[in-house]
Amino acid sequence: MVLCKANCGNKAILKRPKTGDALCKECFFTAFECEIHETITKGQLFKSGDKVAIGASGGKDSTVLAYVLKLLNERYKYNLKIVLLSIDEGITGYRDDSLETVKKNRDDYGMELKILSYEELYGWTMDKVVSVIGKTNNCTFCGVFRRQALDRGAKMLEVDCVATGHNADDIAETVLMNILRGDMVRLRRCTKIKTHSNEDAIPRVKPLKYTYEKEIVMYAHFKKLVYFSTECIFAPNAYRGHARMFLKDLEKIRPSVIMDIIHSGEQIQFKENIKKPVLDICQTCGFVSSCQPCKACVLLEGLNRGLPKLGIGKKSKGERMIAQQNLERIHRVKNDF
Ligand code: SF4
Repeated sequence: MVLCKANCGNKAILKRPKTGDALCKECFFTAFECEIHETITKGQLFKSGDKVAIGASGGKDSTVLAYVLKLLNERYKYNLKIVLLSIDEGITGYRDDSLETVKKNRDDYGMELKILSYEELYGWTMDKVVSVIGKTNNCTFCGVFRRQALDRGAKMLEVDCVATGHNADDIAETVLMNILRGDMVRLRRCTKIKTHSNEDAIPRVKPLKYTYEKEIVMYAHFKKLVYFSTECIFAPNAYRGHARMFLKDLEKIRPSVIMDIIHSGEQIQFKENIKKPVLDICQTCGFVSSCQPCKACVLLEGLNRGLPKLGIGKKSKGERMIAQQNLERIHRVKNDF
């Protein structure tokens, strides 16, 4: 019989993927929760009295985040008001089912839930987007719309910050992807535990930044938490898939690789002359953007005009075209006075 490494005298029933320690269930819970508490306090993610929206998808990460944040809030008296914010992309057979899980979390944890749909914000569901764009660039539309939808939802709920369920594996994958793409701007941002798009914007925080995906699954399993585990039916995301497979292969020969990559990403020094995006307010929709018009408006205009590929790719022809037309429009309005 292997005894729990924490010297509690109980039999060990699991091996922690992060440390390799043999632990009993209770000592694993304690270690898991204490590490997240430490991440929150060291990173100064919240202030007493904050209203925090959890970006809730019904998946394992956001479900565990909601459960643990509620628990730590009560245990350590953070004095937070926690609410759930879900984005309904309009993906039949995926998001409609996962939202049922979020509703169960709402009832189980007694938290307010706000669901915002792409349909109400943009007049398009992802089902409709995929019917015109196919399954190649669908995640570009979905990702751009989701980022903005979360900002819009956070504003409606008047929260102080949005907590997302990004875990250590997600962040290590993103570091790798940004290195492989040579995307220094995103590389600089992706390891930050707290991000603001600008001074006035509502910050995003990642309390699970140092939490391994395998441990999140273990925790949810032993706590019998209800979560939705099916993959999105439109999930090609080939590039992230390759980074994930690569990481899994590396992990077999070097178990600490996830933390190593995150630490490497955190330590990278960037030249001061690297071009940083200048954040502004989109003149079309009024939300934060680094370009005029913002990517969400360009993609939406492309869809509405029947030219869905208009905003795909870096500084596309579509973006330049719409920006030019907007300038002309502004010019005309000015000349009318
Ligand atoms: Fe959206 Fe792509 Fe994620 Fe599906 S896999 S939810 S389409 S970003």
